[in-house]
Amino acid sequence: MQFKTKLLHTHHTAENSTGALTTPIYQSSTFAYGSAEDGRARFAGEQPGFIYSRMANPTVQALEHQLSLLEGADEALVVASGMAAISSIFYALASQGDEIAFIDPVYGGTAAFLIQTLTRAGITVRRYQDDDHLLSEISPETKIILFEPITNPTLKVSDYRKVKLAAERVGAITICDNTFLTPYLFKPLEHGIDIVMHSATKYLSGHGDLIAGVVAGRKALMQPIRTIALKHIGAAIGPQEAYLLQRGLRTLALRMDAHLAGAAKVADFLASHPSVAKVYYPGLSQDPGHQVLSETINAFGGMVSIELEGGFSRAAQFLDNLNLFTQAVSLGDLESLACHPASTTHAAMDVASRLASGVNDNLIRLSIGVEDPQDLIADLEQALAI
Ligand SMILES: *Cc1c(COP(=O)(O)O)cnc(C)c1O
Repeated sequence: MQFKTKLLHTHHTAENSTGALTTPIYQSSTFAYGSAEDGRARFAGEQPGFIYSRMANPTVQALEHQLSLLEGADEALVVASGMAAISSIFYALASQGDEIAFIDPVYGGTAAFLIQTLTRAGITVRRYQDDDHLLSEISPETKIILFEPITNPTLKVSDYRKVKLAAERVGAITICDNTFLTPYLFKPLEHGIDIVMHSATKYLSGHGDLIAGVVAGRKALMQPIRTIALKHIGAAIGPQEAYLLQRGLRTLALRMDAHLAGAAKVADFLASHPSVAKVYYPGLSQDPGHQVLSETINAFGGMVSIELEGGFSRAAQFLDNLNLFTQAVSLGDLESLACHPASTTHAAMDVASRLASGVNDNLIRLSIGVEDPQDLIADLEQALAI
């Protein structure tokens, strides 16, 4: 089945006695197991069956099954947020004395978790600026390398082939935060990456109406992550959210096509505008990541970042002038969103490392929605003119 077909034909639950075309919402915290012997057998893992919705729920399970098919994974796990996904992966796979490396910048919450919290578990955290600096930041102690193929918010491109080669040299596990691309555009597991994760709050759900995270990979890695995420941290997602996420997935391909087309048009406009000092968008032929991304994934995402001449006040003036773009964090919604990363999503970083990773005071991040690009361009044009 082709990906677009899979989005519509892989979402049924195993038990579907009613013929319902959508997965029912099983709004139940606990599940009767009938007899004491069945209860014993379920807890011992000798018998299938649901026990308690923090561990497994039929609506969530149908979604996990669909995501495993979309990612080409043995197993997928859906949790309460992208941050629950990130933290569960690292708590499950790294221990005291290990080292981990991540590309800089990444999503601000990810960097804050790794630097402020994971280090307290006696894990050494290293960051690298680009693929060519990766080798000097890893050693046989490196357990995990985390990267975003298009980083947030500077849209720097990371070449998964280089990450994979570096990881092989030291025996590290590779993790791809694929939030910006989704499995419609890139399936990291098919290219030898060990684990893919998403903030499903963004493009996967697409409607800005829920918070969720996804982790997918092979069974041996997924089992400890599932145990930590659900049994220990307790980051289970509720069945209503799982239902909404599955509904959002049905239009993933349609939405992504519109985001990509809109972003390309908006970036072209911004690149030719005299008062835009810099445009970050790997679809532009002059962008440093363009060549690598063209050779590999051949899709450039729906995000465009820009720098305006001046500092925070100029950025703020521009943002306040926008009418159609909504000033809000998050991304991948149907509506276009605009934010100032330095004072919002990346405000938790210390100033020196924020500036070193290119999250400047005049940087603005745009999530291009599925509105008519003509209207988006007109809005940007009038906001730049003031
Ligand atoms: C939003 C985001 C996260 C965190 O996800 P939440 O669902 O907000 O917890 C992680 N990585 C990236 C790239 C993101 O954009």
